[in-house]
Amino acid sequence: MQGWEKHASCRRVDPELFFSTKLADQELAKMVCRGCPVQPDCLEWALETGQDHGILGGLDESERRARHGRWKRPPEGAKHTTRAQQIAADPDRLLAFLAQGLTPAQIAREYNTNAGSINEATAIVKRQAPAVYAAATTGSETTS
Ligand code: SF4
Repeated sequence: MQGWEKHASCRRVDPELFFSTKLADQELAKMVCRGCPVQPDCLEWALETGQDHGILGGLDESERRARHGRWKRPPEGAKHTTRAQQIAADPDRLLAFLAQGLTPAQIAREYNTNAGSINEATAIVKRQAPAVYAAATTGSETTS
């Protein structure tokens, strides 16, 4: 977690709000960002790491892209440049949550992030270790 993240106003809000396709939800998320004490840090991080979906730093992805011109590429050799990559770097923890049958929004709370990052991290883990992913998630399936 970045140092500023613990002061983020969105920690007290449903993460789904920041990834909703509804305009009203997006405006509400932007309102939360406007009152957030770490908005400048968040926006800088989102631009630097090329976060390409969701409301971050008070802007949606197209607004961030317009602000930035284009996404910055991560530095050569950089590791875990996005939140999703950070989460995917410890697949055992993520798979344990998935095996419990938690939703992306529930898992997001454990990581103090949003459901979009969890979905992205899950996709990375699934791509990198399909057999391990299948074993973990098959175990979480409920029988009826
Ligand atoms: S500015 Fe960033 S940290 Fe603050 S509420 Fe918005 S998304 Fe969360």
